[in-house]
Amino acid sequence: MIETVDTLPALRARISEWKRAGLRIGLVPTMGNLHAGHFSLVEAVRQRVDRVVASVFVNPTQFGPNEDFARYPRTPEQDARGLEAAGCDLLWLPSVEAMYPLGLHNTVTVRVPGITEILDGAHRPGHFDGVATVVSRLFNQVQPDVAAFGRKDYQQLAVIAHLVADLAFPVELLPVEIARDTDGLALSSRNQYLDADARARAPALGAALRALRESMRAGADVDAATGAAKATLRQAGFEVDYVEVHAPDLSPFVEGQGAAVALAAARLGATRLIDNLEFSLDGSPTAR
Ligand code: AMP
Repeated sequence: MIETVDTLPALRARISEWKRAGLRIGLVPTMGNLHAGHFSLVEAVRQRVDRVVASVFVNPTQFGPNEDFARYPRTPEQDARGLEAAGCDLLWLPSVEAMYPLGLHNTVTVRVPGITEILDGAHRPGHFDGVATVVSRLFNQVQPDVAAFGRKDYQQLAVIAHLVADLAFPVELLPVEIARDTDGLALSSRNQYLDADARARAPALGAALRALRESMRAGADVDAATGAAKATLRQAGFEVDYVEVHAPDLSPFVEGQGAAVALAAARLGATRLIDNLEFSLDGSPTAR
C-alpha cells in the first residue's frame, strides 16, 4: 500500500530524508476522487523526478458558500490504490487543521491580482485566493522541484504561474494535456454529478469550442464566434457562465493575433463544467 502521511512532521521527515539523499521531488496537488486525468499528471511528473508526492485535500477556502464543498466526492481508499498503480511514492493527506493551523478564519491568504479577476475568478469570487493560498502551503510543505497541473484548469495554471514567478517559489511547473473521455468530455470528478441525460449532453461543451475554433479560422470575429457557441450551448440545455476567447496568456485577444485560447464554463442543472481549447488561427500546430 502506498505510504500515506497526514501530519506535517511525518511529511517533513520523509521529504528531508529524500532531500538529504539528493533526490528530486515532484508534486501533484489534487482534491481526490482521482481519475485518469490525475494519473496522467503523476505519470508526467514521474519522468522528471525521483520521488512523486500526490496531495489529496478538498480545500474549503476555494469553494464559495453555495458551492459543492460538502458533497464533493471523497474516495480516499480508491485514490490510494490508484496512486500506487500510477507510480506515486507518497500520499499527503492533510486534515483541514494540518493545512490551516491557525483556523479557517485566521489563515494567511495569498491573492494573485489581475488574472484572477476574469473568467472563473469573476464567476467564483474568492476561488483563486483559495487556490493560491493552498498551493503556496503545499509548495512550502512538500518543497517540490517540479509540480504538475492540468491544462483543463487553464486559468488556474496561469494563476499559479504568476504566483510562482512573483513569490519566487523554487519550483518548475509542468503543464499536462487535458485527458478526455471517448466522447470528448474532459474528465472531471464533478462529471459523476451528471445524470444519464446530462451526461449525454455534456460533450456539447467541448464540441462548441471546436466549432468556435473552426468559425474563427473561417474568418468569424470573436463576438460572432462566442455568440454562436453560447446559443448552441443554451439549445443543448446549458446555462452559460461564459464563453470567451483570449490570447494564450489570458490577456485580451486582439483580432489578427495568430494564437488563441477559447474558454467556457456552463452548467447542466447544478453541475458546473469547464473546458478550453488552445488553437492557432491558421491551423498550424500551437507553439508551446
Ligand atoms: P482537482 O482534483 O480537480 O483539483 O485537479 C487536480 C489536478 O488535476 C489539477 O491540476 C487539474 O488541472 C488536473 N486535472 C483534473 N482533470 C484533468 C483532466 N481531465 N486532464 C488533465 N488534468 C486534469
